[in-house]
Amino acid sequence: MTDYEVDLFVIGAGSGGVRAARIAAAHGARVMIAEEFRIGGTCVIRGCVPKKLMVYASRFKDHFSDAVGFGWTLSGASFDWPKLVAAKEKEITRLSAIYRSNLEKAGVAVVDSRATIEDVHHVHLVADGRKVSTRLILIATGAAPVFEPDVPGRDHAITSNEIFDLASLPKRLLIVGGGYIAVEFAAIFARLGTEVSLVMRGENVLRGFDEDLRTGVRDGLAHAGVKLHFGQQLTRIDKMPAGYHVSLTKGAVLDADHVMIATGRLPNTKGLGLEQAGVVLDGFGAVKVDAFSKSNVESIYAVGDVTNRLALTPVAIREGHAFADTVFGGKPEAVEHSTIPTAVFSTPELGTVGLTETEARETFDCVDIYMAKFRPLKAALSGRDEKTLMKIIVDGGTDRVLGVHILGEDASEMAQILGIAVKMGAKKADFDATMALHPTSAEELVTMRTRTARFEREIPGPEGPDAGTIAGE
Ligand SMILES: Cc1cc2nc3c(=O)[nH]c(=O)nc-3n(C[C@H](O)[C@H](O)[C@H](O)COP(=O)(O)OP(=O)(O)OC[C@H]3O[C@@H](n4cnc5c(N)ncnc54)[C@H](O)[C@@H]3O)c2cc1C
Repeated sequence: MTDYEVDLFVIGAGSGGVRAARIAAAHGARVMIAEEFRIGGTCVIRGCVPKKLMVYASRFKDHFSDAVGFGWTLSGASFDWPKLVAAKEKEITRLSAIYRSNLEKAGVAVVDSRATIEDVHHVHLVADGRKVSTRLILIATGAAPVFEPDVPGRDHAITSNEIFDLASLPKRLLIVGGGYIAVEFAAIFARLGTEVSLVMRGENVLRGFDEDLRTGVRDGLAHAGVKLHFGQQLTRIDKMPAGYHVSLTKGAVLDADHVMIATGRLPNTKGLGLEQAGVVLDGFGAVKVDAFSKSNVESIYAVGDVTNRLALTPVAIREGHAFADTVFGGKPEAVEHSTIPTAVFSTPELGTVGLTETEARETFDCVDIYMAKFRPLKAALSGRDEKTLMKIIVDGGTDRVLGVHILGEDASEMAQILGIAVKMGAKKADFDATMALHPTSAEELVTMRTRTARFEREIPGPEGPDAGTIAGE
C-alpha cells in the first residue's frame, strides 16, 4: 500500500475547506490545508461578515432620523469611514485567528501558501516549492469576481475585494451590476453619504428573486437616492485628475471616484493544475462533482463556490462537513440544495425561502398567492415612508407552502425560521393554525387569510399543450 504523507490535502481555507479539514481530522485523518491569502476565506475576510458590519453601520443613519419621532433630539452625528474600516479589520483578524487555532487544535497542519495540483496524489506548495503526497485532495478554492465588461480603462475599476478597505469614503461611487452584491453595496454607501449610481444591463435588480420583491428593492434603492441606470452597460472608463469619467451605452457620461464591478463571480480554478490531473470542469470553469462532492477523478473532491452549485457560506460549510463525514466518518451524506433560505442585505432587506411566484407557476397546475403590504408599527411614529411586503406562495392542489418572500426589517431573520416550516412541508393551514405574536410584523404571516390571486394552468385541449393558458384572479 502506498504511504502518503497525509490522508487529505485541502486547497483553500475558506468556509468549505476549513469545515472539511476540521471534521476529517476529528475522524482521525491526517490533514493538511493550504491558504494563499487569509484563513477564513471570502465570507470572513471580504464577504458576508465585513459586509454585514457595514450594513449595520449604514443603517444608523435611518435609526438617527427615526429617533426624532420617538422624542429624541440628536445632534452632531457624523460618520468616520477609516474608523469603521479599522474596527472591521480588527474583527475579521480576530475571526481569522480563531479559524486558525480551531484548525490547529483539531490537529490540521496549516500552510500559508498557494497550492497547486501536480498529479492526482501530489500537491505543490508555491511558497517553498515543497511537494506533498496525499491520498485525497479537496478543492475548496472558492470563486473570484468576474472583471467584465472588458472595456477600455477597465483596469481603473475595483471589485468587492477592494471596496472594504478604501482609504476614504468615496463622494461618488459607480457600481456595475444588478446582483445581490451590487445592490447591497449601493444601499450601504448611499446611507453612508456617498452619491451612488448603479448601472446594469437588465431592466431590474436581483434577477431570479420574486418579481414583487425585486421591484420593492429597486424602489428602496431609488428612495435612498441611488441613481439607477437600467438597460445599459459601460463603454469606457477614463481617468481624470480627480476620479473617473464613465461612459455608458446610451450616451451618458458619469463622474465617479471609484468604479466597482460586481457583475458576477466565477469558480477559482485557473492555474490549479486540474486539467492536467484530468479533472472535468463545466463551461464556467467549475469542478463537476457528484452528490458526494467527488470529481470524475477518484482521489479529487471539491466543495463550495468552486463547484458552482449554490454560492452561499452555509452551503459550502454543509458540503465540506458532508464530504468529511462521507469519506472519513463512514456516514455518507449527499447535501440537498433545495429550499435554502437566503437574504439580500439591502435596506429594506429581503428574506426568502422556496419557490418564487414565477417558478411555482411554471411547475404547479394551481398556485395561490397571499400577499400583504403594510406600514410597520415603528413607521407610525418615525414617519418613515416605509412598507413591509410579505408574500406566501401555496400549491393550490395540496395547500403546501412552496415559498415565502419578505421585504422589510428583519426579513432575513424571519426567512431563517420560515425555512424550517417550509422544509418540513408546512401547509397554509398550519400557518393559519399558528397563533399570532402581537405586535410584530411577522404576525402577518399567520393572519393572511384572503387569497390575493390564484393561477390555474388550463388542461391542454385537443390542440396540444400550447393551448394552455394561465389566468390570474
Ligand atoms: C461581497 C460578498 C458578500 C457575500 N455575502 C454573503 C452572505 O451574506 N451570505 C452568504 O451565505 N454568502 C455570502 N457570500 C458568499 C460566500 O462568501 C461564499 O459562498 C463562501 O465564502 C464560499 O466558501 P468557499 O469555501 O467555497 O470559498 P471561499 O470562502 O472563497 O474560500 C476559498 C479560499 O481558497 C483560497 N485559495 C484559492 N485558491 C487557492 C490556492 N490555489 N491555494 C491556496 N488557497 C487558495 C482563497 O484565498 C480563499 O481563502 C458573499 C460573497 C461576497 C464576495
